[in-house]
Amino acid sequence: MMSINGKNTTTTSQPPPPHSTGDGGGGHRLRLNPNSEHEPDNYEDLEVEFSPLLFSALERYLPPSLLSVPKETKLNYMNHILLRYSSKTDRLRLHKHKEYRQKIISNYKPLHCDLYTMNGSSFFIPSFLKAISENTEGSFRSIMKEDSPGIFTFEMLQPKICAKLVEEVENFEKWVHETRFRIMRPNTMNKYGAVLDDFGLESMLEKLMDDFIRPISKVFFSEVGGATLDSHHGFVVEYGTDKDIDLGFHVDDSEVTLNICLGKQFTGGELFFRGVRCEKHVNTETQPEESKDYPHVPGHAILHRGRHRHGARATTGGHRLNLLVWCRSSVFRELRKYQKDFSSWCAECDREKKERQHKAITTTKLELLRREEATS
Ligand SMILES: [Zn+2]
Repeated sequence: MMSINGKNTTTTSQPPPPHSTGDGGGGHRLRLNPNSEHEPDNYEDLEVEFSPLLFSALERYLPPSLLSVPKETKLNYMNHILLRYSSKTDRLRLHKHKEYRQKIISNYKPLHCDLYTMNGSSFFIPSFLKAISENTEGSFRSIMKEDSPGIFTFEMLQPKICAKLVEEVENFEKWVHETRFRIMRPNTMNKYGAVLDDFGLESMLEKLMDDFIRPISKVFFSEVGGATLDSHHGFVVEYGTDKDIDLGFHVDDSEVTLNICLGKQFTGGELFFRGVRCEKHVNTETQPEESKDYPHVPGHAILHRGRHRHGARATTGGHRLNLLVWCRSSVFRELRKYQKDFSSWCAECDREKKERQHKAITTTKLELLRREEATS
């Protein structure tokens, strides 16, 4: 599903808008090109159905006559447009999912309450905290390795927090087993594992994204919406010979993915990468320099674009748990519909472009040679 819902998906009880078909010339439309000089309003203080950031970004695309009207009027106008993308079925599904979450949260008793509110100094190792507080490319690079372009590895979580997260997930699994509660697994590929957002860790993960992942992504992944990450899907996957063993080659439904190994003891399970690709090129060949393997180290994180193709090799012994945060930008997802040439980050698009340029140059050279020969 191409979701454009942000973190405010809780307010979905509004009736559908009286708009729709055949808007004609007088309907709700956006301009093709943004007004880059316009200073957008801030929508954080309003109860909105989509991310406030999305409204601020869309504002530049409003018809000129609307740029100076009251904020509520602009909001209403943009909401009409956005609701076209979110069907009644989608909203009903969101409502059902909210009820499902509520049912778990009111019955499940957490084991480690301190995990549910984030305390930076007990969660992270000091060097990571320092780099984030300095908030510069240099400070991030001082703790990160980028052995392959766009794949960043660094030490992040305190061992004690890794252990507590593992225990919390095990405690949750135990509760699920005892109460025979039917839970949804994190995604279509993993049979084991749990969605952390579903049992109360949503606000902790939101803070993790807002205060830690977004500042880094703003620097390294700005072309895929790194600065405007505004919603997430957080889950733990479990691997072992009695669990999921490996994970096939895929891309994530995210702009940026944070993957942290939590432990415990294991062999194998390396993460392998195969280059960044857009929708159109997702199945194209891997260039030799794009192929790279990363071992998992407990407490260490790997940060990459969601469109960086990857998979996990077989965990050959022991038991491995990883925490994944898929970070999404509704602004990026919305704006890519309006812009041509939106895939500069795709290695294959880039290669094709260079090839076209090379061909054009060769043709011109040949043409010049031919003319020279003709005149001599
Ligand atoms: Zn492409």
